[in-house]
Amino acid sequence: MLSTALVWLRNDLRLQDNPALAAACGQAEHVVALYIHETDESLRPIGAAGRWWLDRSLEDMGAALAGIGIALRVETGSAEAVLAKAIEATGASALHWNRRYGPAERSVDAGIKTRFSAAGIATQSHPGNVLVEPWLIQTGQNRPYSVFTPFWKTLKGTEIPRPVGKPEGPSIAQPKGHNHTPPSWALKIAHYWEVGEQAAQARLTDFLAEVVRDYPEGRDFPAKTLTSKLSPHLRFGEISARQIWHAAQAFAHVHPEQAGAVDKFLSELAWRDFSYHQLYHRDDIANVPMHDKFAELGWRHAPKHLQAWQRGQTGFPIIDAGMRELWETGYMHNRVRMLVASFLSKNLLIDWRQGERWFWDCLVDADAANNPASWQWVAGCGLDAAPYFRIFNPVTQGERFDARGDYVRAWVPELSGLPDKFIHQPFAAPSSVLANAGVTLGTTYPKPMVDLKTTRQQALDAYSALGTAS
Ligand code: FAD
Repeated sequence: MLSTALVWLRNDLRLQDNPALAAACGQAEHVVALYIHETDESLRPIGAAGRWWLDRSLEDMGAALAGIGIALRVETGSAEAVLAKAIEATGASALHWNRRYGPAERSVDAGIKTRFSAAGIATQSHPGNVLVEPWLIQTGQNRPYSVFTPFWKTLKGTEIPRPVGKPEGPSIAQPKGHNHTPPSWALKIAHYWEVGEQAAQARLTDFLAEVVRDYPEGRDFPAKTLTSKLSPHLRFGEISARQIWHAAQAFAHVHPEQAGAVDKFLSELAWRDFSYHQLYHRDDIANVPMHDKFAELGWRHAPKHLQAWQRGQTGFPIIDAGMRELWETGYMHNRVRMLVASFLSKNLLIDWRQGERWFWDCLVDADAANNPASWQWVAGCGLDAAPYFRIFNPVTQGERFDARGDYVRAWVPELSGLPDKFIHQPFAAPSSVLANAGVTLGTTYPKPMVDLKTTRQQALDAYSALGTAS
């Protein structure tokens, strides 16, 4: 038996199905958990909304760990230096963590593994954050996948490891506090979320029992709550993808009539693994377009347009509703994420990286793999990307997916008096209709900031100027 083991927590703030924690508890008499607010310059700092969530999640995890007799230390600094100090202070002879997949993070982890292994500390990494490790899924030619459908087929045919149980846990010291504060604007997000492992499990249980049956048809309608909203819990590892996978499979076994709906849900969950596949195999996906030719695209420098988009003041109601939902709650419905990303990168021809950064700061689920991969997908430069000529029209999309305007009315209340017919295009309404609804364009609500038809054509021209080389 080892005496003390250190568990370095990162994106895995849960007791159950936490292989690093389980391994440490299985091996050592004493276990100490450590979370580090890492300051290494190579790492992307977490966004503001994420910091709010993380803060809560660490509190929750600290209490849960204390319940099994494990102290959680929260420190700030370079991971290597903090770990070295913690090892010295605790006399730990083993160090465990669950893997992360970004190139910069892997490089930090590899350096730490080399250093501490050489110093005689048993350093072990574990698989815990994705369904299948990114290097275990490959094409018949032993290459990474670049198209989702065959990736999904292969993933489905792969045995997804079963979740490991919650450790009993031995321990020493008391939990320590930490001085990590999110910005004040992020605090409003608290009204919309329950943070932590138990909340994540409850959300999954409720989703399977009440919602999944309607998921395939309902998931595209932003006014309905027919998706799981598990994304921030997954982001911080309060629940694991494989816990979701196995719980959903078990549910489908008992309710075979819902197996098709569960399969659709799991295929969306597999998109997350596909994003991690890209994060792992590609170079810096938050900055480098996956199709080289997009490096040449003549993006517009348009700070005023960018700001209007960020503030939900574009004059296109569904875009504004989405951007305001994001600002208020730290979340945006997937269909609307696609619309606002298309509007920014195509109608406004603003570099998708600007949008990705805004999302990174505002989303509670801002994820190093899903966020850049999805932005690249919409902008047309990602793997398996939406073709560049697919430019969403915010008016017709609004009419299709928010036909009664409920979503727009919820987030853009100054338009709520408009009849359904004009709720997605107030600029087309006769002046009497606008007057009846108390809307004065340019005063109570912006005029449309661009012409959809002209900007669509400009985007097509800019994109087709890139040629066909990839
Ligand atoms: P559900 O539909 O209930 O799906 C369950 C889980 O499957 C999600 O939590 C997520 O982990 C995964 N998933 C579902 N759809 C996708 C998808 N299209 N791509 C990848 N994984 C998916 N997702 C993030 O988790 N973090 C992000 O930072 C993020 N940024 C995005 C940016 C843009 C421009 C777009 C278009 C999409 C982005 N997504 C991101 C993907 C998707 O919008 C969210 O995962 C989803 O809306 C979360 O809601 P949910 O948990 O209710 O999803």
